[in-house]
Amino acid sequence: MLLISVLQVKKELGQKQSFRFTITADQLDLGDESPYEGEMIVTGSVINLGDSLLVEGTIEACSHYECNRCLEAFQRKEKIAFDECFREQDLLLSSEQSKDDFLTYEGDAIKLDEIVREHLLLNEPLQPLCSEDCLGLCPICGVNRNKTRCNCTLTTVDPRLAVLSQLIQENS
Ligand SMILES: [Zn+2]
Ligand SMILES: [Zn+2]
Repeated sequence: MLLISVLQVKKELGQKQSFRFTITADQLDLGDESPYEGEMIVTGSVINLGDSLLVEGTIEACSHYECNRCLEAFQRKEKIAFDECFREQDLLLSSEQSKDDFLTYEGDAIKLDEIVREHLLLNEPLQPLCSEDCLGLCPICGVNRNKTRCNCTLTTVDPRLAVLSQLIQENS
């Protein structure tokens, strides 16, 4: 668990305290589908802003994907920054501010697990690419065009246009 003790920090405005954790993807319960593997490092600091505690941090992790274009497996080194404000649960209940505006903590510790999990998820690309200009696979012979140059001639016709030209031919 990623627990920051805020016993000292919460006493005084402007107090600051740094933290550093190492945790594995398994310990965070990211599940089998998760691209993150092995150990990750979560570092940062918590600062007392008066009405809340600001946690600023960075997650360093290693993720594994299959490229969307060339289907090669690749690794990425991730550095994910986050910042969140926390309020003490008890104080929040007595104030008028809505609960949704702040994250809460109870007692003398802030638990970061949820935040870290959330930011890891948000960081996952929808279409992972081994590199921005990955050439992908040749649609004709199937070679990985990042590695091999083939001699296939590509007639680049948009499939939608192909249908259209067929219609035109049928009508003429
Ligand atoms: Zn690729
Ligand atoms: Zn080819």
